[in-house]
Amino acid sequence: MSIDRVHRHIDDHREESLEILKTLIRQPSISAQDKGVKECARLLADIMRKFGISSDVIDTPTQPVVVGEVCKDPRAYTLLCYGHYDVQPPEPLELWESPPFEPTIRNGRLYGRGTGDNKGQLITHVLAARAWLEAAGGPPINLKFVFEGEEESGSKNLGNFVREHKAKLAADLAYVSDGGLHPSGRPTISLGNRGILGITLVAQGADRDNHSGNKGGVAPNPVWMLVHLLSTMVHPSGRVLIDGFYDHVRPIGPTEQKLLATMEFDPKSFATTMGLETIPMDGATYWKRIMLEPYFNINGFISGYVGPGSKTIIPSRAECRIDIRLVVDQKTRDIFEKVKAHVKKVDPRVQVLERGFGTMEASRTNADHPAVGVVGRAIKGVRGVEPFIILSGGGSLPNAVWPNILGVDHIGVPYANADENNHSPNENLSVERFYDGIHVSAQVFQTLAEADTKGELPRRSTT
Ligand SMILES: [Zn+2]
Repeated sequence: MSIDRVHRHIDDHREESLEILKTLIRQPSISAQDKGVKECARLLADIMRKFGISSDVIDTPTQPVVVGEVCKDPRAYTLLCYGHYDVQPPEPLELWESPPFEPTIRNGRLYGRGTGDNKGQLITHVLAARAWLEAAGGPPINLKFVFEGEEESGSKNLGNFVREHKAKLAADLAYVSDGGLHPSGRPTISLGNRGILGITLVAQGADRDNHSGNKGGVAPNPVWMLVHLLSTMVHPSGRVLIDGFYDHVRPIGPTEQKLLATMEFDPKSFATTMGLETIPMDGATYWKRIMLEPYFNINGFISGYVGPGSKTIIPSRAECRIDIRLVVDQKTRDIFEKVKAHVKKVDPRVQVLERGFGTMEASRTNADHPAVGVVGRAIKGVRGVEPFIILSGGGSLPNAVWPNILGVDHIGVPYANADENNHSPNENLSVERFYDGIHVSAQVFQTLAEADTKGELPRRSTT
């Protein structure tokens, strides 16, 4: 069987694969500091070309995107593998046990900036494609690769890039390996993420702070303006009271409902990780809130005097910073307009500003999408265990570009160890997890091909 030869090829090339990853780690690619990113793009494209993957480095207004393709047959099922080759700044350098851009093996782990996040994961797809090309004449499906150079700086150009190259990137499913496995080492499948919308509310009173005795009762207090306004936006239960806020929230289906009830939940230990004594809810509610419901959060409130002693003033200005975590089908633009309309109606004196940086759309693939089971089979085949299904991460990632712009669903399968120290000093990737990753990708190509032959998988776009 071809797939056996492919797995054997991966085993026979372990050292070489690790060397390729080390070469990538040695090339800094810090998007936040614009250090070495373009060089890394060229290096990555060269590696891909060497394996027979036709690859290009495509410029954007900031950092280039590396795209690659192995086309088996234009009519075959097409998987798009996304990753990012840029890394976080390595500082503080003194906390690294070995220099961040000198890949070093210690205790079965490869240490270096980008090992887990995300060079060590994106290259597994390339190495799996290589194994298929060399051991079986080519993968059983079409493969496309999109490796971004500024994910760590907010993926500012990814949406436009996908829009401009829609035809070139056309695929049936997007596959994303980023982040870590469950702390137990058990594999996971992640089906989406919540979105985020950052908003600042600004209330202005008098043009200066005023004496709260001499002017109290006459000069307007902007803190009260915001307190009154905020109380009309969110009910004490957490329910958002803004008109139309829940209009587009996708209903939770029976498969999701079932998974929620079976998800691991230990109120005591979960509470400890949050610095709480207990979490007063059952597991299904806990997970539903974090994964499938929006949340309107106040993350900062700035006003008045909070220094030593006291200063009895009526502050002249108050500012409230908000992040709203959105769920799939709630669009940031629509929600922003709804917040603005609400403020205009309740207190038009308050200014509503959008904090552009960090705004991301939510996305979520339904749990009963046939590819979920197909990818799960591939993972089980390699790792011997059933993966956890994470319906949606609570945080935000740029994956919404796949359904919203390219029109394809996405599935996330992280390959790194849970303690990869991504974004921290001593980032690392377990060498065994790295090899597992190559095997899993290779197997996913196979199970998708089999399922497609049986007509089990939806085709979202024509290639
Ligand atoms: Zn990261």
